[in-house]
Amino acid sequence: CGIVGVIGKANTTEILLNGLEKLAYRGYDSAGIYVNSRTGHDYLVKEPGKISVLEAAVGPEVQGTIGVGHTRWATHGIASRDNAHPHVSEDGRFYLVHNGVLTNYLVLKETYLKDVHFVSQTDTEVAVQLIAYLAKTEQLSAKEAFRKALTLIEGSYAFVMVDRDDPDTLYVAKNKAPLLIGVGDGFNVVCSDALAMLSETKDFIEIHDREMVVLTKDDVQIEDLDGTFIHRNSYHIEMDA
Ligand code: GLU
Repeated sequence: CGIVGVIGKANTTEILLNGLEKLAYRGYDSAGIYVNSRTGHDYLVKEPGKISVLEAAVGPEVQGTIGVGHTRWATHGIASRDNAHPHVSEDGRFYLVHNGVLTNYLVLKETYLKDVHFVSQTDTEVAVQLIAYLAKTEQLSAKEAFRKALTLIEGSYAFVMVDRDDPDTLYVAKNKAPLLIGVGDGFNVVCSDALAMLSETKDFIEIHDREMVVLTKDDVQIEDLDGTFIHRNSYHIEMDA
């Protein structure tokens, strides 16, 4: 399974699909992408089966400047289109990809999300619905809703989220699942394995467990869940794509 994300590039869809192919070695049963143009157009395409099936379903109109991609190794729910990622909140605002297993998702669902209509069997959908619930009921920004959800969620995760209302930012977090930032000039990327993004950059920044990252095309802002900012230098990989 694997995750890719990109912000600040014109050929987002191509970068995501190429990245997912590079991560195929990790194993998967479904794949999907979400791409937003920042001009009012956005696209969610996901399919069970091979990445080639996803690629065939991605039409030429699917273009944008921010996006996330996912290959799924099902842990909760069969391999199906509904269970494939990205998952979207009921209000259509937040798009989330996840690798890992959330151990307390049933408790979170019972506690906060009794009125929400779920479309998948996944643990992941609980996370994205929880973020939307917190944003709405507690009047939190996307960043603060993401942070608060992370303090409530238990288990393993690599998360990347897009806020449809403000598609200039990728919200990133990890705990006991691989994820790292790739740094570019006027763009940034995120990936499970540097291999997926070596065609775009050779400079990467580690994320540690239970940190979150607010990623824009020009900025990498790492902080812990208490809101303390963390400075971390990038490292350079000498390797060809
Ligand atoms: N637990 C999630 C699911 O079953 C994510 C699986 C994965 O790591 O791909 O959808």
